[in-house]
Amino acid sequence: MSQQNEMKRRNFLKNSALGLLGASFLNNGNLAFSQNNTNTATPAVSPETGNAKIKEFRVLGRTGFKVSDISTGGPRNEALLNAILDTGVNYIDTAESYGRGLSETVTGNVLKNRDRKTIFVTTKLAIKKDDTKETILKRARESLGRLQMDYVDCLMMHNPATVEILNSEAFHQAAKQLKSEGKIKHIGISNHGSQWGEKNDSMEKVCLAMAADGRFDVLLFVFNFVLKESGERILKACKDKNIGVTLMKTNPVAMYMETQNDVENLKKEGKEVPPRMTEMLSTLKSTYDAGIAVLNKLNAKTPSEMRDAAIKFTLSYPEVHTVCCSFENFDDIDPFIKLSGQKFSSVEMKKLAAYTESFGPLYCRHACGMCEAQCPQKVPVNTIMRYNHYFIAQNREKYAMQKYAELTTPRADNCINCTGHCQSACPYGVQIHGLLTLAHQRLILA
Ligand code: SF4
Ligand code: SF4
Repeated sequence: MSQQNEMKRRNFLKNSALGLLGASFLNNGNLAFSQNNTNTATPAVSPETGNAKIKEFRVLGRTGFKVSDISTGGPRNEALLNAILDTGVNYIDTAESYGRGLSETVTGNVLKNRDRKTIFVTTKLAIKKDDTKETILKRARESLGRLQMDYVDCLMMHNPATVEILNSEAFHQAAKQLKSEGKIKHIGISNHGSQWGEKNDSMEKVCLAMAADGRFDVLLFVFNFVLKESGERILKACKDKNIGVTLMKTNPVAMYMETQNDVENLKKEGKEVPPRMTEMLSTLKSTYDAGIAVLNKLNAKTPSEMRDAAIKFTLSYPEVHTVCCSFENFDDIDPFIKLSGQKFSSVEMKKLAAYTESFGPLYCRHACGMCEAQCPQKVPVNTIMRYNHYFIAQNREKYAMQKYAELTTPRADNCINCTGHCQSACPYGVQIHGLLTLAHQRLILA
């Protein structure tokens, strides 16, 4: 994206009501560290930082460890991580791939000066069919080296694409050896589904199989108020097996005005905007306007209020033990930490229900992909919308565009001249045809 476009985008987000709503929703409750994001710039410092403290700890299933109900994903700045831990946060989620090991290094640099045993550290390795016990052992030891630790509390399989991967002998043999050496205490998995490849089982299928398997102790998965039904089935299975539950992507996404801004910018720059895109935008705008009207009636105009309600919703489930939040800078600390120990009210439930009803058609559900089989072009709908989420929700523009560029499948430029078979197949009524078309424009911006 050009510097000029980026400035416009940021200014728009700053100034528009929808931008504020969307940006707030989008930037909270998600694991935000990009696999390739090596940004270590010092975050903005807020003088108010430091007032809120963790008020509630929950036992992380059969690990027996009491973890803070609010936790941090993908640390990338030592000063920021120190400030977060000072509030009482004691669960850190990192991974071999986050910043190509940088997140583990940051975690290690901070924890070597703290009481290691008071903090639960999870790291993750992506496991493929052809991995061997030796390669997994080597990578796990390299992770421990970056973490500068004798052990990690949990070693997770990073988003296993299929149930079959859960049975990886190489992983389980390596884990057995690492446990016997005292290098890991527990194993688990993370899952956000929708990983485009030859074969992909749904998040629910993988998570339920993980719970039934019996060997895994901790799960990290996507749960939010829009994905309620599927999430509740997974939570029940975890409860039955006393599995520790940690969450990511606790806020759904509904924001397209930024794209409208992009489209306007494209026009200003003399680029061609297909007429069908303008039509689709008009439909999406009607949906948005209707949604805002509903929220206004409920007096739910404040973005932070909706964000808080979304996180408190997930914490209202006793089966949930911690929500991994994305702390982008010091200003994020108090707003997240103050949610610790808070109760979710019936009024908030009403507002979230209204949000789901109104904005549901703008949110392509994480970990879905049910419509993909209907696409004659084999466009990976849910994967593209996840990249779109990385771009607009997690401020990972370059990463999102890089992932989109690397797709070896047909992309959403096919959608412009299509009649939208995927949209007819979506059981949630998502206006996916327009969203995909707009996502394509966003993800190819350079
Ligand atoms: S458009 Fe609908 S069916 Fe397709 S992936 Fe998104 S939520 Fe699922
Ligand atoms: S709009 Fe058409 S080409 Fe695009 S994903 Fe849907 S069915 Fe496939």
